[in-house]
Amino acid sequence: MRIEIATLFPAMCEAVLDESIIGRARRAGIIDVRCRDIRAYTLDKHRRVDDKPFGGGMGMVMQAEPIWRCWQAACEELGHRPYTIYLSPQGRTLTQGIACELAEKAEDPSLFLLCGHYEGVDQRILDRIVDEEISVGDYVLTGGELPALVLTDCIARMCHGVLPAAAAFEDESHFSGLLEYPQYTRPEIWEGEGVPEVLLSGHHRNIAKWRRDESLRITKEKRPDMFAAYLAKNDQNM
Ligand code: SAM
Repeated sequence: MRIEIATLFPAMCEAVLDESIIGRARRAGIIDVRCRDIRAYTLDKHRRVDDKPFGGGMGMVMQAEPIWRCWQAACEELGHRPYTIYLSPQGRTLTQGIACELAEKAEDPSLFLLCGHYEGVDQRILDRIVDEEISVGDYVLTGGELPALVLTDCIARMCHGVLPAAAAFEDESHFSGLLEYPQYTRPEIWEGEGVPEVLLSGHHRNIAKWRRDESLRITKEKRPDMFAAYLAKNDQNM
């Protein structure tokens, strides 16, 4: 799995990518996630990468040329054209299903994630290189770095070897169209509160049944929209 994150703030991305499960997977060579500093590709002697918008208005716009040169360098190093995503509030809203689709593209050929900043990016470079735009929700952030990290994390944890077993993500909320059942850990009694008896029984079939019932109950309660979609898809009468 290879993911390139093109950003004006590589240190911000590296700080996150270096930690925890993703950091360990990178160090073990299970995933190859690299940050590319767009500023390193500017030809401007003052290392500028943005300018005022034509037509006037607030803020600055990221210029096409440094991004073009950055993307071309990535293509050359990779030896192929990566599937190119612009993180944008105007894109398809990220879901687990979309992350699964993109995880396949990250395996073959690879992903190039373009992070905008300021007012955004010159449209001409987007028209030239971008395959699709992905949003993390209907709100606006200062930059594409956090969305790129969200997308990378979501994809990388599904890569074989990053988590101990596929069940670690397949059982979780959203993967099957349901939310996950409640989880408990030691101590058995905390502040006078116990845990559901069945979880202490060691009876695997009963535990699985309890978890499934809880999954259905919680999804119905917290996300009636998801529950309806799940029923429609699975054609079940519950
Ligand atoms: N002017 C743009 C607009 O109104 O569509 C918003 C620019 S935003 C301030 C700066 C950058 O943050 C964008 O270029 C994009 O890369 C990123 N960004 C902001 N919100 C995002 C979201 N919800 N999902 C993905 N990327 C986002």
